[in-house]
Amino acid sequence: MKEILLCKYGEIVLKGANRKYFEDMLCRQLRHKAKANGNFEIYRSQSTIYIEPKDDFADIDGMMQDAGKVFGIVAICRAAVCEKNMESILETVRSYIPPYLAGKRTFKVEAKRSDKSFPLDSIEISKEAGGAILSACPAIRVDVHNPDVTVKVEVREFAAYVHPGPVKGAGGMPVGSNGRGMLLLSGGIDSPVAGYMMAKRGLTIEAIHFESFPYTSEMARDKVLRLAQIVSEYNNDEMIVHVVSLTHVQEELVKHCNEDYFTLLLRRYMMAIADKVATRFKCGALVTGESLGQVASQTTEAIGVTDPVATHPVFRPCIGLDKDDIVQIARKIGTFETSIEPYEDCCTVFTPRHPRTRPELAKVLVEEQKLPFDELVEEAIKGMYRVTVRPGEMRVDPPASAD
Ligand code: ATP
Ligand code: MG
Repeated sequence: MKEILLCKYGEIVLKGANRKYFEDMLCRQLRHKAKANGNFEIYRSQSTIYIEPKDDFADIDGMMQDAGKVFGIVAICRAAVCEKNMESILETVRSYIPPYLAGKRTFKVEAKRSDKSFPLDSIEISKEAGGAILSACPAIRVDVHNPDVTVKVEVREFAAYVHPGPVKGAGGMPVGSNGRGMLLLSGGIDSPVAGYMMAKRGLTIEAIHFESFPYTSEMARDKVLRLAQIVSEYNNDEMIVHVVSLTHVQEELVKHCNEDYFTLLLRRYMMAIADKVATRFKCGALVTGESLGQVASQTTEAIGVTDPVATHPVFRPCIGLDKDDIVQIARKIGTFETSIEPYEDCCTVFTPRHPRTRPELAKVLVEEQKLPFDELVEEAIKGMYRVTVRPGEMRVDPPASAD
């Protein structure tokens, strides 16, 4: 029996003049995902994207899983395709649906007829399909109010489709429909989640990672790149990671500034560098994994002294989430196990014994002015290099392409 995937996208997202733009974007992104799964044809009609296998080698399970990572798709139905006549529909219902009803007690059929030339209306189709199921599975009962399974019959433009209801899609808005964002990516739990959350709102995510070699190791960097690789699956299968060394900045801070302010000063450098790199690579926003009150540098006051360095809006999607909530998302997207590998971060080397949790900007600036801030920022950016990660691939770009 021939199967197909029907992807439904959120009507609200796709309204008005932008509709075609969004639809084309979703089709392109799904075509990209299809490349790894074999020969599929992808086309759209009547607010649905069809993903049709073109030969027996096309991996429909893999495609379904990958389509579940494309933001903007709210539901995916794996359906059997049949001809647009009742005989074919009933035969398909009888052979395709029973395995989905195994162990279930109740069902109902919901038919939808977007091809109005079909001779039966949706109520009549539902009744006949329901009857066919009852004769094929005598143990099951109909419950129209609260069924265990809702079997769908959709009579559409090209064919009729029978399926046991949709599975949830990734939701959100197509990646790229809301511009680009520069994610400050550490090896922790929070920032990969933050990147995922903003990709879900349509930002194409590019990342910047700060390291402090030899105080941080190559293993720590590798872990971050592997995290970027996992998040890239939600970001059109690619993420550019700019790697910047903060070693000199940190050594200068230790030599010249009051220890209590190390972390805050370092975070202002990170913001300033990320902001400039964002401008250079045409990102309209910065994204961080900060969560209010989680650590000393994430109090309202501490965020208040790092935020003003940025000229772009700073998106902090985890700001109101508890650690448990963030962990739950990290598990769902597959970053958690990698995030908890025990490697150091540049924020955790040279940490002050008594970090300021209620800093005043004026006092931070007094400390900051002990060093040539702009010069150190420029120097760090000069030494930056770029890694392009894709699922199963990491490529260090030649230095010239960082400009
Ligand atoms: P995470 O779990 O994401 O590491 P965290 O709770 O450890 O977050 P901090 O270390 O204070 O918090 O970092 C707060 C945010 O600053 C991170 O979510 C991330 O966006 C950014 N950040 C921290 N360290 C780095 C780094 N080495 N490179 C890039 N960004 C970083
Ligand atoms: Mg961290």
